[in-house]
Amino acid sequence: MDRQNKEKKTKERKNRLGWKMLALAVLPVLLLGTVLLGVGMHAFSRSMENHVQKEMTEETKLILKMLDQKYPGEFSLYKDEDHNYHIYKNGQDISNDTEFIDNMKEIMGVEVTLFCQDVRLLTTLTSEKGQRYVNTAVSPVVTKEVLKGKKAHFYRSTTTVGKERNFAYYEPIFLKDGTCFGMVGVCRRATDVEKSIRVAMIPLMFVCLAAMFIIGAISVWYAHKLTGRIYVLQRFMKRLTEEEFEAELPSNLLQLQDELGDLARSGRRMQESIRRQVELDELTQLYNRRFGDKQLQQMRTQIGESGVPYCVAIGDIDFFKKVNDEYGHEAGDVVLTRVSRLLRECTVCKGVVCRWGGEEFLLIMEDCTLEQAVEILQKLLDTIEEQEIEYQGRTIRVTMSMGVVAVEEKEEIDDILRSADSKLYYAKSHGRNQLRS
Ligand code: GH3
Ligand code: MG
Ligand code: MG
Repeated sequence: MDRQNKEKKTKERKNRLGWKMLALAVLPVLLLGTVLLGVGMHAFSRSMENHVQKEMTEETKLILKMLDQKYPGEFSLYKDEDHNYHIYKNGQDISNDTEFIDNMKEIMGVEVTLFCQDVRLLTTLTSEKGQRYVNTAVSPVVTKEVLKGKKAHFYRSTTTVGKERNFAYYEPIFLKDGTCFGMVGVCRRATDVEKSIRVAMIPLMFVCLAAMFIIGAISVWYAHKLTGRIYVLQRFMKRLTEEEFEAELPSNLLQLQDELGDLARSGRRMQESIRRQVELDELTQLYNRRFGDKQLQQMRTQIGESGVPYCVAIGDIDFFKKVNDEYGHEAGDVVLTRVSRLLRECTVCKGVVCRWGGEEFLLIMEDCTLEQAVEILQKLLDTIEEQEIEYQGRTIRVTMSMGVVAVEEKEEIDDILRSADSKLYYAKSHGRNQLRS
């Protein structure tokens, strides 16, 4: 049983509007943010790589220019008796000028290699033991695309030297007759490039995440506000179904100029209309017996707590049957309405006046001693007696008899009513038009 209850509660919690609204507010931001972040990071990384490519292209061009400055003139190739190739420029052998490429590496921060065909003739690249990678071959892809294709090429982290991945750029070099005999290559360690890209991405990522957080927070705040209002309306309606008519709606909700505001205003009108139907008597607009009963119960609980004195009175119009018989039922209604108005107006203390039966009324007088009640009610009976009620050119006059009691603490309601009723009966049987206490 306990488990069932627990499951039911979990299900209810899952079904709550708040969670749905939260999901509605957060999921799109999360989804859109993730996609935008992913696409943004990818585009940023691409543009950084393009920048690296551009840099490496310029560096290669600069190396070739510096080489031209140091050794002006055309390239030529010479093969010695050991079948080793030598590259000459303007008659000078440049195949052993490691100082030149070391200087280039120092200035530009890139690894520099001079290739004869696909073989490294001069290079700043070294193994872990510090040995230069001379006389080693470049990958077949580069040979095919750069040497044979006679076209400069950039490789994104795909070429490896030793175990190291590299970003590399190769530019073919030509003899005077246009034969492609080698390449100049520059490369950077992929891990270094990727690290610098990652570092450059941090502010962008931070801005994206902050924007996501701010938009998410605004959405959540708004959803929370909206569900809060719906919950207020829900609680209000629930109390209405339980006939708790004192339930109130906050003024900011009632003033809203949207559908929720409309709903709140309709709810309040509905509350008033139901309250009238449930609590008021249609003819006299006094409270009905049902409401009077409720008030008596309430009086009983309050009386002990507050120590405030209460009085209860029952009044009945004298010879009312005669009014109906003489003037008609409609005239009787007019009399009832007028007497009810007087009861409302003349009962100057706190409390309620109810139509207890046909022409019988119950008065609950709060914070009122018996002496005060007698004074107020006597004035009321005098006023009723003095009233000239006009109906179709005729004047109707009525009187009322009344019994009033002060309420003792812890007294049963039936006893209070019985006691007030017996006083009324006494008044009736002793000439009517009088108050008995
Ligand atoms: P008493 O002084 O002993 O009270 O005499 P009474 O004629 O008033 O006697 P009773 O209280 O028994 O009669 C009440 C009458 O009130 C009976 C009924 O026809 C009439 N009545 C009850 N409700 C209404 C109403 O809503 N409209 C009208 N016009 N008459 C009503
Ligand atoms: Mg009567
Ligand atoms: Mg009566």
